[in-house]
Amino acid sequence: MAITRFAPSPTGYLHIGGLRTALYAYLWARKTKGEFKLRIEDTDTARNNEEAMKAIIEAFAWVGLSYDGEVEYQSKRLDIYNKYIKQLLDEGKAYKCYMSRDELDALREDQMSKKQTPRYDGRYRDFTGTPPEGITPVIRIKAPLEGVINFEDGVKSSMSFQASEVDDFVIARSNGMPTYNFVVAIDDALMKMTDVIRGDDHLTNTPKQIVIYNALGFLIPKFYHVPMINNPAGKKLSKRDGAMDVMDYKRLGYLPEALLNFLVRLGWSNGDQEIFSMDEMLELFDPNTINKSASAYNEEKLLWLNSHYIKNATNKRLIEELQFFDCDLSSYAKQDMILDLSKERANTLVELKASVNKILLVPASYEKKGSKKFVKENTLDILKSYISLLESKKDTLLVADDYELITKPFIEENELKFPQIFQPIRIALTGVTQAPSVYDIMAVLGLEETIKRFSTAISKNFNKDVEN
Ligand code: GLU
Repeated sequence: MAITRFAPSPTGYLHIGGLRTALYAYLWARKTKGEFKLRIEDTDTARNNEEAMKAIIEAFAWVGLSYDGEVEYQSKRLDIYNKYIKQLLDEGKAYKCYMSRDELDALREDQMSKKQTPRYDGRYRDFTGTPPEGITPVIRIKAPLEGVINFEDGVKSSMSFQASEVDDFVIARSNGMPTYNFVVAIDDALMKMTDVIRGDDHLTNTPKQIVIYNALGFLIPKFYHVPMINNPAGKKLSKRDGAMDVMDYKRLGYLPEALLNFLVRLGWSNGDQEIFSMDEMLELFDPNTINKSASAYNEEKLLWLNSHYIKNATNKRLIEELQFFDCDLSSYAKQDMILDLSKERANTLVELKASVNKILLVPASYEKKGSKKFVKENTLDILKSYISLLESKKDTLLVADDYELITKPFIEENELKFPQIFQPIRIALTGVTQAPSVYDIMAVLGLEETIKRFSTAISKNFNKDVEN
């Protein structure tokens, strides 16, 4: 039974790296029938952003990651942290350090000039004298002076840090605010985390946090440090590559299940399986099999997954999703036909909307390139006789096959090549050459609308006479 958490700092929007970590922690908790908590790490008040907090909760709701209990806010837990700081001071495991900013800077410069890693030198560790005037102290933890700090990482295997790599770091600033590594350790312990799954940018924080666990006699959870997501060139993922707000994926027309499927595979795999329903993720995911190396963001894969989920979504669901894009199909009698036709080739809901609109809306313009290529001198006459044919057979025309049945002989009799008729029909009906089968479109539109669109295209001569 794993108790896990997602612990974002609300300093910006939630991006996909964060969402992936959240998903892994969520899956592990749910799979093991444990608990998944959401904890907002908002002690760095200067960098906090109210909008970002809302955005995180909104993104969770969109992708359907549910958390147990109330959202925890670190800013509301200061009394708890202060209690432990006092305890550590009383027990002599932490101490006040009166070093001034200037002294710290001088120490750092001196160490750097000697090519040493800057670290606090412990000068107030055993200080018993009179504190200097005018300095409000920080509180530092007494980190071990020798030995090693070991921990088992579910992704990176055995990790070992020399105690000398961890200095007596600050656990409370001079303004009394506890620091990040201190509060994370306190909260993870008090919230009874069994498994801490987070980005490997936190790897070097873990020995520090272990120092806190040990000082307070807390049980140390198992850690999983997940490698980063890089861009296809192997560099840090930038906003342009896809490291944008999770909600931007919604705005771009991705389905949440496609995004989650994409993310579960970015850093974890099960053989060569690509499609994972939530049930399959829950059955198969194990943080102990997370990849050891960084993964690369691949937009084409995401689009492919999204098209898969769009194709397989019910029309009822798609109608709901399209509402977000101001596309309302709910009152159309032929909504199923329209969607069945459109969803086959849509990579995103935005493309689906465009495709639906090609059917719903009379073309406002006709594709220039296509009209130039396919609308020839005799095209208008061909279309006119085709209209006459349709009118003469109007009682037989219901489904796509009915249109096919009369069109084939028409093509033969007039010795036409397919593009000579089909492309002008497509352009007349939808404005573009990239559209579903003409028979399907005509059947969906019905005879009256079909003829109306043909007549409009003819009367406008496919806009060929208009400049530009
Ligand atoms: N608050 C940290 C962050 O947003 C994560 C802390 C953790 O997972 O331990 O990067």
